Amino acid sequence: MNVLAVPEASFAVGIDLGGTQVRAALVDGKGTLLARAALPTDKAGGPKAVLGQMQSLVHEVSRSVGLDKVPAVGVASPGPLDARAGVILTIPTLPGWVDIPLVEWLSDWLGKPVTLGNDGVVAAVGEWHFGAGRGLQDFVYVTVSTGIGGGVIADGRVLQGRRSLASHLGHMTVEASGPLCQCGNPGCWEALASGTALGANARAAVLQHPASRLAALTEPLTGQHVFEAAAQGDALAQELVANEGRWLGVGIVNLLHLYSPELVVIGGGVSHGFELLHPIIRQHVDSYAMPPFRSVPIVRAALGSDSGLVGAAALAFMSLAEQP
Ligand SMILES: [Zn+2]
Repeated sequence: MNVLAVPEASFAVGIDLGGTQVRAALVDGKGTLLARAALPTDKAGGPKAVLGQMQSLVHEVSRSVGLDKVPAVGVASPGPLDARAGVILTIPTLPGWVDIPLVEWLSDWLGKPVTLGNDGVVAAVGEWHFGAGRGLQDFVYVTVSTGIGGGVIADGRVLQGRRSLASHLGHMTVEASGPLCQCGNPGCWEALASGTALGANARAAVLQHPASRLAALTEPLTGQHVFEAAAQGDALAQELVANEGRWLGVGIVNLLHLYSPELVVIGGGVSHGFELLHPIIRQHVDSYAMPPFRSVPIVRAALGSDSGLVGAAALAFMSLAEQP
């Protein structure tokens, strides 16, 4: 049931709250992004200041059609958060964000219904309605960037779980004695396979291989540098990409066994290296997933860095469609 029961000529505003930027976009019922705006996140100002930024962004992107033509707003936010209650529990990257009733505040200020979702889940909703997962009943979206997040569509519904905390995919343990994760546990998937982990692995590796092409690139080395050097044939970079692909494969095999999706979609900054990573992930999945799970395609996100923005608008459309 991912055909939105809204006319194509209706509008919603999606907001994507990030640690560096607050972005907003006006989106129509076909998922077309009609206007966009962004502000640097007012970290020092705290939650009310950032909600004020959201309010002004909503006004700005709605200008072309008029705010009264925008019946609902969706917000994608880092978590953990309680989407059903509309409350952000905490955002580790934003000081002062503890138990913030974002939906209550913002809907009061805007005079419109506001829906909140975890950014990974919201990006999955974006890809489900308007991107690579269109028309599917079961699919998993994984975003691999600073951390790893994502969302699961199961049996045609967004998997929410208790307090809507499901799909913290990055915190499944993939190596019990592995490196420490931001969450405090050892060996989380994101501690081994995020863009942050790839960059850290690269910086450690060049110390051992000062003659590599990678060592000559500008510090601080990031995952993007690794993909560039690998594409140019640097052996060390190719080894790092192979390691990254294998760890992504480990997590994806788990996701296949857990959710049995028809498709796995990969987004986030690390997906810039998708062409290099895909054959390695594929090989790992084809070797380690149980045979009935092996034929599942693994593709790159269709909406790119806009999955969350478009997804937040899709969340707003969904909330309208669910109204009696
Ligand atoms: Zn963790």
